[in-house]
Parts: sequence; C-alpha cells; structure tokens
Amino acid sequence: VILGYVYPHAPLELLLAHGITPSLVRTNPSVQGGFEASLQTFSCSLTRNLFSQRSNGRLLSLSGLLFPSNTCDSLHNVADIWRYRFPGDKIFTLTYPAARFDEDSVHFLAEELRILSESLKKIFGRPLSNDSLLAAVYLVNNFRNAAQTLYSCRVVDPSVVSYSELTRMVRGFLTTPNTDTVRQISELASAASRILDARRQLGTVKSLQKALLTGKLGDIEIAVESKTPRVMVVGGMIEPQAIASLFKALTKFSGDVVVLDLLSFGFKTVFTPRVNLEGDLFVAMARSILGAPSEPTQEGLPERLEFLKLLLSRLGIRGVVVCEQSFCDPDQFEAPSLVNAASQVGVHSVRLPIDPELSDRARLEGRIQSFFETLEAGQQ
Ligand code: SF4
Repeated sequence: VILGYVYPHAPLELLLAHGITPSLVRTNPSVQGGFEASLQTFSCSLTRNLFSQRSNGRLLSLSGLLFPSNTCDSLHNVADIWRYRFPGDKIFTLTYPAARFDEDSVHFLAEELRILSESLKKIFGRPLSNDSLLAAVYLVNNFRNAAQTLYSCRVVDPSVVSYSELTRMVRGFLTTPNTDTVRQISELASAASRILDARRQLGTVKSLQKALLTGKLGDIEIAVESKTPRVMVVGGMIEPQAIASLFKALTKFSGDVVVLDLLSFGFKTVFTPRVNLEGDLFVAMARSILGAPSEPTQEGLPERLEFLKLLLSRLGIRGVVVCEQSFCDPDQFEAPSLVNAASQVGVHSVRLPIDPELSDRARLEGRIQSFFETLEAGQQ
C-alpha cells in the first residue's frame, strides 16, 4: 500500500507502523495545470499541478492520498474537490492546529492522529504494529540524523556536498522511505563528516546540528572568508530540487552558493525532532510534528523572523532568496516580512515568484544571476 502525501509534516512513522509506505507526491513540471477548470481561482499553482496530474491519469500507482486540513485554503479546497471529482479515490485528511506549539495543540493533533490511525486500519485492513513502529522510528531517525548532518556540514563548507545532491537524497527518502534510501544518505553524511573531521571542524558541525534542531544558536558563529557569495533560500512548499536546478544552471557559480534553505520540504522536514516513544504514542508523534520549525501556514511569524535574523547574522550569509509559490497566500503574506528582516541585519534579498512548471525559467535564472552579481560587487 502506497499512500501519497502532499504536506511536509505527514506522520511518516505512523503510516509505516501500519505497513503503509508514505510517498511525497511531487509536482510534475511536464503537466500544465493553469487552466484546470474544476478549481477555484484562488487555488495555488502547486495544488493545480497535483489536480492536473490526477485528471491526466497520473498518480494511479497510489493507493490513496493524505491531505492536510486547516493549513491553507488551497489544500483544504482541493481535497474536497478531489473527493467529489474522483469518488473512487481513498482520501484521508489530517487536521493540523494553526496555533503554535503548546500542550493544547499537541493534544489536538494527537487526537487527529488517533482518528487517522483508525481510518487507516479500517480502510486498508492494516492495524498498527508495535514492531513496525519501532522499525519506523529507527528508520526515520536515521534519515533525519544523516540529513541534519549534511545540512550542518554544508553550513561550515558547502563544497563538501552539492545542494542538488543533498536535495536529491532528501527527496529520495521522502518519496521512498526505506533502508536503501537511508543507507545512501547516511553514506553521504559519513563521507562529508570525514572530510570536516580531517580539518578538525566536526565539533562545529555537531554543535550546529544541535543548535539548528533546538533553534538556539548559543555562541555559535561561522566566520567565513569566501569569494563565492553565501546565500540562503527561504520560502514554503517550493520544491528544493527545482531550486537546486535553477542555481546549477548558472554558468558562473556552482551549487555551493546555497549554504542553507529554510524550505518546507528541506530544512523544515529534516529538522523535525525525533519521536520519543515513552508514554502515549499519538501524543509523542504530535509533539514531534509540532516541534518542527514552523511553516508560513502556522502562527508564529515573529519567531520565524527572529530565527531568520539569527541565522543570517551568525552563519556568514550574504544574500537571501525569498521564494514564493505562485498564488500561495501564506508565502506571499510572509515574503515582505522576510525581506524586511533580512534588511534589518544588513543582508540583501531578492523575491523569486516561482511555479512548479518553472514556466518562467529564463527570467528566474536572469534574476538570480543579477542578484549574485550585486552580491559579488558588494563583497569586493
Ligand atoms: S503552496 Fe501555499 S497555497 Fe499551495 S498548498 Fe502549499 S501552502 Fe497552500
């Protein structure tokens, strides 16, 4: 059984414990979604693309789809329309609290997870198994640990592994979470760690990993003498691999320009705290999901801005690329504040409106290229 999911903070451990393979449904650049007549005009380009894939006969290998509820209007709307338009599809919803992490939101989400677990058992006839749960938690923890190590290594020296390789590995696991994809990313993390260990920088990597996970940087400060501009990419549900491909296409700079992202399917998925199996399982999973760095779809903008400013000022970042998914309300409400926060700490930024089909690719590349030239000129 393969259950597609579209929102980054899906309960992977729960699905695996039911013997179900969760698979992140990616947008497909070859499917044009702009004129899908069934959707309301406010639907974002991501949901249009997903809907168009289904109406064009794709996604048939999936046994069902898990949609989030209470995140953004587009996703709420598309799940309802999906049920109506494709009544044979098995559609599950998981309602997330919009509130920040507190005990009420943990208990709310725990109950939602319990309901989801019952539905999975009823519809697929697969009850939750304790052995599978232990294996799932172990698998996901190993993935997160390896991916966090790679993220932290790249902040210290982005040339140890390219951003496109990292995003490919993360995507590989989110699409097919199994021992093979975990082995691949773990090997990459070990290789990167060995390089930095030989330079006596592994201690910094470990401290940074912990700091990024807790959101508290303490006295960490990365001083970098680099001629290549160090850039951070921020935004919501933008495909990190698409961003990596845009940067890779630039002739002058390589992928090591991007030292960190704060994207939903990148940093915010990877730096989710582990599930602590003591006590009630659903409460533990809710705590883990809500402990992830918050999304533009949630409350907590002031904290997100403070975290961004902290990272920009401590990690030697010279520029910020603020990505906005076309017609994504949460991204577009947040973008002006992100630009403002960057300017408060003296970091240049550029806004990048983007859609899953990269329909405006030449203009996007031109925009990034000229932004880098501005950064370079500023460094000289
Ligand atoms: S891209 Fe934005 S509007 Fe679209 S589903 Fe994600 S959060 Fe919602």
